This record gives sequence, structure tokens and C-alpha cells, in this order.
Amino acid sequence: MSECLFCKIAAGEIPSSKVYEDEICYAFHDIDPQAPAHFLVIPKAHIGSVAEVNGDNAGVVGHIFTVIAKVCQELGLESYRVVSNIGEQAGQSVFHLHFHVLSGRDMTWPPG
Ligand code: AMP
Ligand code: ZN
Repeated sequence: MSECLFCKIAAGEIPSSKVYEDEICYAFHDIDPQAPAHFLVIPKAHIGSVAEVNGDNAGVVGHIFTVIAKVCQELGLESYRVVSNIGEQAGQSVFHLHFHVLSGRDMTWPPG
């Protein structure tokens, strides 16, 4: 069995607060929200990070972005930020590809 936390969440082996699900991806609320709205969108199949995106799995990433647009529209989020950290120095702590979607407050630029 995979020891990956987000593989377990996608499989329903670890509880999470679901936002959206289909056969390709799963979205759930971040356990430590950094904005009034903060959810994560992950592929169900394990990909380590954006650094592992290639011609074979790029369609999954494209699909995830259509889901982000649709879910944000349904939630009435007009302005939001999508973030993916790649590697420890950039702040990645879970090594299963995920896109943070943050909304509901003023954002600063550049990010820290
Ligand atoms: P990152 O640090 O960019 O790899 O993002 C990982 C995110 O996963 C962090 O924002 C955590 O708060 C979040 N996280 C960790 N464990 C869980 C969990 N069990 N359920 C929901 N979110 C989680
Ligand atoms: Zn995984």
C-alpha cells in the first residue's frame, strides 16, 4: 500500500473535507487554511510534483485546471490564487502533486 498521505486521502483511507471529486482528481479543504477559502486539488494517480509532469500525464493537469475554474465559479470565487510548491526550498511538504486554491483575502506579491 502507498505510504503517500495524499494517495491515502484520494483513496478515502484518510478522512478529508471533500470539495469536488471525479475519476481523475479530488479536491478537499486544506487542514491548515491560509485564507478564508483554501482547498487543494490533487490527481488520484500519484505524481510527485509539477517536476514530474510530462507528455503522458499533462492531460491530468489540464483537467485539474478545468476543475479549478468550474469549482471556483460554483463557489462564487471571482479572484483567487493557484499555487503549487515544488521541492522543499519552495515549501513543498507533501510530495504528491497538489494545487492550492486560495481566496477571500488580499494577497501580497511577491509571495514569501
Ligand atoms: P505543501 O506544503 O505545498 O506541500 O502543501 C501541503 C498542504 O497539505 C499544506 O497546506 C497542509 O496544511 C495540507 N495538509 C497536510 N495534511 C493534510 C490533511 N490530512 N488534510 C488536508 N490538508 C492537509
Ligand atoms: Zn501520492
